[in-house]
Parts: sequence; structure tokens; C-alpha cells
Amino acid sequence: MSIKGAALIAGAYEHPLREIPDKSLAQVHAEVALGAVADAGLTMADVDGYFCAGDAPGFGAISMADHLGLRLSYMDSTETGGSSYLAHVGHAATAIAAGKCHVAFGQHADPREAGRMSSLPAPVPAVNPETKPFWEATTRHELLLKRCDSREAVIWYPRQVCPACSSTATTWFPASGRGMIYSFTVVRRGQGYRGVGPYMLAYVELEEGPRLLTNIVDCNPDDVAIGDPVEVVFHETEQKRHCPASSVDDPQGG
Ligand SMILES: [Zn+2]
Repeated sequence: MSIKGAALIAGAYEHPLREIPDKSLAQVHAEVALGAVADAGLTMADVDGYFCAGDAPGFGAISMADHLGLRLSYMDSTETGGSSYLAHVGHAATAIAAGKCHVAFGQHADPREAGRMSSLPAPVPAVNPETKPFWEATTRHELLLKRCDSREAVIWYPRQVCPACSSTATTWFPASGRGMIYSFTVVRRGQGYRGVGPYMLAYVELEEGPRLLTNIVDCNPDDVAIGDPVEVVFHETEQKRHCPASSVDDPQGG
């Protein structure tokens, strides 16, 4: 079955506000939904397909469908953690092509409250049995990596299974902590880290091979260039665990 030409995007809506403390999450979801459907020249009575991910309140999509009074022949609550709404577009086109619904919409409203996220560069990391040695090492200001015993390939991010050969025979070893900037961007404004910009998001290529997504800290972003040598530094988080970030060795690029 091809979905090419089977469906089209008829309406879109972006809420005019970014922080809405006086409205419930369901209310914001509903306003966005109503805006998109109205933009398509339709009403909720025309809708028979609904797509919504884990940011919906209550039981997710089913709660929002009830909240909006939708009468559906198709519903999808796929959650892919940040890209759900891209997946929903494809799923909606597929559902329409397959005749499971005719008019579908999906919406997103981020439930995070302003100020809930910690400021850069120290979000509190989640620790599980697989990553515990890594986070314990950061408290000693040591960067641990994993190596696959059979291929001698260095694994990033830390995990038990080797992504190259699926072996679970992998071993921790201390990394040099040295690398170079592979690529970077300067974020001057953003929703999650309001008030801390500008900050730098970068891929750092470690001497051992892996490229880490990290922050470049303790520097003037205007002095930083691709290829600059960097060294890992550790910033203490609210819960005493430490997050690795990178500091520029020589802002002139050596
Ligand atoms: Zn391997």
C-alpha cells in the first residue's frame, strides 16, 4: 500500500502563548486542537481520527478524546519521546490511506512548567543499574567508557550491549577526558533553559573515538571553533551527581 497522495495536511495552529499558568493542560490541548481544525475549515464533528502522545493529561489520548467529545474510528497514542508528532503525521496518512479514518488531527502541549528544568549545565541525570558505574565515576571526576571485548570498539552512550555486534561482553575503562569539537551550535534563547543563554551545545569527538553530545562551558562562544581541543569537566548537580561537560583547552584552537 502506498500512502503517496492519499492524505494532505489541511490545517495547522500554533498557540500564541508559551507560558499559560492559568489554564489546565487539557484546556491548552483543546485550544490547540480547535485552532487546527478551524484552520482546516472543519469542526470537531468532522474528525474521526486522533493522534496524541504522552504529554496529554490523564490517560493520554483517550482522556483528551473524551475531553473534546470526539467520536472516533481511529486513535493513536504513539510516544517516541520528542518526535512523536512526526511519527503521527506518517501514521495519520497511513490510517487515512487504509480507510481507518478520514479526518485526523493531533496536537502537542508541553506539560512542563516554567522553571521546572534545572539550569545549564547541570540537569539531574537518571541513574539505573546499567549506568551506575558511569555516574559513580563522575563523582570522582572520572569519565568512564565501555569497550566491546570482542571488537575492541568503544561504545557510547554507556550500555551493556555492544551496538556494533550485540555482544554483552563489554568492559568499563577510564577515558582520557580529552577530545576536540566536532560540531557545535550556540543557543541564544530556548524554552527549557530560559534565562541561561547563550549556551553551547556541541558534539565532542573523544580521543577514544566516540562523539558525545555535550555542552561547551566556561568560554566565550564567539572564541570557539570546530577542531578546538577540549577537556572534560564535571559540574555538580542538585543531587550531588556530576554531569560531564567540555571546557576549551585553548580558545584560539592551538
Ligand atoms: Zn561488539
